[in-house]
Amino acid sequence: MENLTLREKLDRLNRIRLANLPTPICKLNNVSRELGKNIWVKRDDFTGVEMSGNKVRKLEFSIAAALEDGCDVLITAGGIQSNHARATAAAAARLGLKSHLVLSITDAPKTEGNYLLDQMFGAEITLLDENGNVTLPEKIEEVAEAYRKNGHKPYVIPVGASNGVGNFGYLNAMREIAEQEESLGLSFDAIVCAVGSGGTYSGLYLGNRLFGLGRRVAGFTVSNNKDYFANVCGKIVNDTLALLGEEADEERSFEIIDGYKGLGYAISKADELQFIAGVAAKEGIVLDPVYTGKAFYGLYNEVKKGTFDSCENILFIHTGGQYGLFPKQDQMAEALAEN
Ligand SMILES: *Cc1c(COP(=O)(O)O)cnc(C)c1O
Repeated sequence: MENLTLREKLDRLNRIRLANLPTPICKLNNVSRELGKNIWVKRDDFTGVEMSGNKVRKLEFSIAAALEDGCDVLITAGGIQSNHARATAAAAARLGLKSHLVLSITDAPKTEGNYLLDQMFGAEITLLDENGNVTLPEKIEEVAEAYRKNGHKPYVIPVGASNGVGNFGYLNAMREIAEQEESLGLSFDAIVCAVGSGGTYSGLYLGNRLFGLGRRVAGFTVSNNKDYFANVCGKIVNDTLALLGEEADEERSFEIIDGYKGLGYAISKADELQFIAGVAAKEGIVLDPVYTGKAFYGLYNEVKKGTFDSCENILFIHTGGQYGLFPKQDQMAEALAEN
């Protein structure tokens, strides 16, 4: 791929089309008025219905790689309400592949939200007790080995499809954003997303760098913390660069912000749920409790604190996840009643 431009290289990557793209960008008028900034949202929750959210952008590349290798089973993993696992199961069903999900649990799960959809898409499911003595990688390998023994060719997609290949999804999304900036006649001073397994942030970060856009790219952690993600994202970025035949990047300027994870990954607090309901009431937009609700709450607070004072136009990526609201419907109802 030596003598090709970056855009040519990206256009030649192996990809299958699964997402409805480009996704629209719209302005949140009431939140913008409140904050004294132009707050825009890129509706990556519009990438589909069954495959809604950010993971399908990555799966276009991960599954293309699986098909190129002649694989017939997609194995992936996540939490019990994983949006990524649900999108993978839906994609497998559409493509006539098998899917096998390893979902981690702390107690007996209810068949609801994404976990209900996983079962409707015909996924095989292995539940893994988070407090048991088998690790996630061990369980995934055990599942993969059983398929190999039965004459299948499994392909393992990592949690969140956050690796070098999956990263092409948001590298391309950055190009899509740059094209939309032109037609909107503006440029976003900051582009902001949730950081869950690091792939979305890594793709946006690398796209910004490789296309020379010079935007501020900020991510809000909803699990782990910024030191953990500085490592994870650094590795993802370099894996992608290697696949493109580009030199590794050792000089990083990630803007990963902690402080809005709340009680922990996928655990909600009343104030977070009330914030989500407030945005729904003000804008007619539904954020999810695990990722976008926390990240947008973070952005809202950081804008108020002055962290984004130098920015006029801020683009928040709505990465989807609305099915995750339904397993929290009782807690949301309580939060609404308290309000
Ligand atoms: C997975 C996910 C994220 C986080 O994206 P990563 O690429 O894993 O960091 C954000 N929002 C939603 C709805 C998700 O499902």
